[in-house]
This record gives sequence, C-alpha cells and structure tokens, in this order.
Amino acid sequence: MTVEYAKKTVADVPVDGRRAFVRVDFNVPMDQSGHILDDRRIREAFPTIQYLIKHGARVILASHLGRPGGKPNPAYSLRPVAERLQTLLGQPVEFIPEAVGPVAESAVQRLLPGQVALLENLRFYPGEEKNDLGFAEQLAKLADLYVNDAFGTAHRAHASTVGITKFLPAVSGFLMEKELRTLGNALESPKRPLVAIIGGAKISTKIDVLNHLLPRVDRLLVGGGMANTFLKAKSLNVGKSLVEEDRVSVAKQIMSQAGAKLVLPVDVVVAERVDPTALPEVMAIDQIPGDKMILDIGPKTVDVFAQILQNAGTVIWNGPLGVAEIPAFAEGTLGVARALAQSKAISIVGGGDLVGVLEQLGIAEQMSHVSTGGGASLEFLEGKILPGVAALEDRT
Ligand code: ADP
Ligand code: MG
Repeated sequence: MTVEYAKKTVADVPVDGRRAFVRVDFNVPMDQSGHILDDRRIREAFPTIQYLIKHGARVILASHLGRPGGKPNPAYSLRPVAERLQTLLGQPVEFIPEAVGPVAESAVQRLLPGQVALLENLRFYPGEEKNDLGFAEQLAKLADLYVNDAFGTAHRAHASTVGITKFLPAVSGFLMEKELRTLGNALESPKRPLVAIIGGAKISTKIDVLNHLLPRVDRLLVGGGMANTFLKAKSLNVGKSLVEEDRVSVAKQIMSQAGAKLVLPVDVVVAERVDPTALPEVMAIDQIPGDKMILDIGPKTVDVFAQILQNAGTVIWNGPLGVAEIPAFAEGTLGVARALAQSKAISIVGGGDLVGVLEQLGIAEQMSHVSTGGGASLEFLEGKILPGVAALEDRT
C-alpha cells in the first residue's frame, strides 16, 4: 500500500461524544438566487456524516463555496446548503453564521451527541487559503477531532485542509477513503489490462499525467483537442484545429516513448467553427481541409477504442474526447462512454468537464467510480502527493 491511502479513517478512532470538525466539499453549483442546482456533493458526504451521527459524535461541518476572496459575501453563504442538507438528512442542521470566534464557539458548545451544524463559508476569512496557522488554530478550537472528507480540495494546502491538522488528531472520511483507495489501486495494483483514456482541450495541462501514466498503463488512448498536437507531430494537416505549436516536440517525445501503447484517432469530426449550428462532417485524419477544425473523434475511432475497452480490466478516463458540451460534437465521448459501460472493466472517470458531460448525457452512473475531485484527481494521476492527504494520520 502507498502512503497516499494508508490513512486512518473515522472508523479507526473513538468518536462517541467528541466534537468532530468535518471538512467537506459542499462547493455546489448555485443559481444567482442561491438555489442549489445539483446536490450530489452534499449527498456524497452522507456515509461519513451518518456514521458520526450514529456513533454519537457532535458533527461540525465546514466547507468553502465559490471564490469570495477572503471576505464575507452573502452571495456565497452556505446557509442554503444547510437547509438542503437538513431536508436530505431528515434531521435539524444548525447553520452557524460564522466559522470561528465566540459565536461559532458557543454554538458548537451547545451541540449534543448526534447533532449536526454547518459553519459559514471558510473562504470568508483571509487565513483559509493562506493556510494561516492562527486561523487554523481558531478552527481547531471548535473540535476534538478533525475529519477530512473533501477529496476535491485535498490538492490545496489551506487552513482547513492542512493547518488544522497541527492541532487535532486528523483522519479521513469515507468519501476521501474511497477516492484514495479507488485511484490508488488503479495505479498500484490494477486489474489488467490497464487502459487510460485522456482527452480535454490541451496537451499542456496533461503532460504530467501522460508521463506518469505511460509506464503504468498497457494502452493509452488519446482524444479531444490534445490529440491534435499529436496529429500535428505526425506531420498531418489539422487545418484550423486547436494545436499547441510549442508542445509538438513534447508530443513527439511521448509518441516515441509510448510506441504501440499509444492509440490516436484514425478519423475525426470536423466543422468550420465551434458552434451548435455548424455542420459536422466525418473525415479520415489525413484528409482534413485547411479551413476546418477537429471537434470530436470519429465513429471508426470510437470502434477502435471500444474494442480495446471491451478487453480491459481497469480504465482510467480523464477529459472529454471532443467539444462535448455541444451535442453535435458529443458523439465520440458518448460512444466511448457506452462502450465502457458495457465492458466488464472497472471504470474510473475524473476531470470536472468530463464528469459534467457524462452527467449531462445521463451515463455517469454507469461508471464504477466517478471522482469528486477535478484538480485533485488530476494531481493524483500525476503521481503528486496531495497535501490534504499527506497531513492525515497513517494507519499503522
Ligand atoms: P477535464 O476538465 O475533464 O479534465 P479539460 O478541462 O482538460 O477536461 O478539457 C475540457 C475542454 O476540452 C472542454 O471545454 C472541451 O470543449 C474541450 N475540447 C475537447 N475536445 C476539443 C477539441 N477537439 N477542440 C477544442 N476543444 C476541445
Ligand atoms: Mg476542465
């Protein structure tokens, strides 16, 4: 086991009667009137919250919401989240309009075993994102135990993810544990063949992922805008497609290292512009007209990818394979998602945009694991140690 996921969980420590400060990721999408558009992030924290309630802990939840920039802003208040949580949980949730100081301290003092409170947005305080130890100590004063269940924020060293662990025993929640175990196993001891599918806009944001995955995977399938730079590196004409000229040499290097492991598109969907009304056309990759741009992988490529996925043991997928927010250019991503849903492989999908697209297409729930962390899952796949994970106590 790697250090990354050999971490203590709430189940490894006494919680009865203790005040547990639980860092959750309740950074939910909201409309301008504070109406929550999707409460998945709230529901995903339930295993940990319900465990703590059942075992008599006093539960103090804390999260950030949006980017208020270190000062209070009612538009980013967590009050609507407390209300939704209360409805979903079916028990009262006290909203505490501050995260530190006398108001917060006396509110948590009144909590009885099994009761739940949610603090106001941590990013209303400048100390949070600065990982200020004074602020972390004030947060720690509210509790006897620290639980981190916010995988999506684990790649950030903030007061509520790192600083606070200097002052309290620190363990992971069950969502954090599941993310680390799933991603960790996929990299360390996967059921083979291990296949990675990497898409998204730019190769530059995913070079570290490609380099970390390459020696570990059996196949590396590349699509999305980033595939264009590889096609360019093969001296193909890619027309007006998004290309990173300054990364052509990196693409060449990856291609020579990868050899037959690397699978690039054999056909693509092109159009004149990125526009829902543009006419999509399928082309072989050596026939792309100069005035068109690549916006999706083509049907032959979907078949090639599907064939590989059919025999895979584990599949890690990050990034959409086309401009999938536009339905005309979502067929490639959808086709590959369908093939993955049908294969017996353990399927692990991550990346903010890919997960959003798969949810929109109604196919996300057919994956074995949908990572809750966009940036965090990317950094994990790059082989980086996430500071919020490193700060937790090891299981001995
Ligand atoms: P994720 O968030 O899933 O990791 P990225 O942020 O790397 O994914 O990339 C997502 C973006 O890539 C989407 O906005 C999508 O429109 C864009 N994209 C995918 N394929 C192409 C393409 N062929 N040309 C231009 N943009 C693309
Ligand atoms: Mg993205």
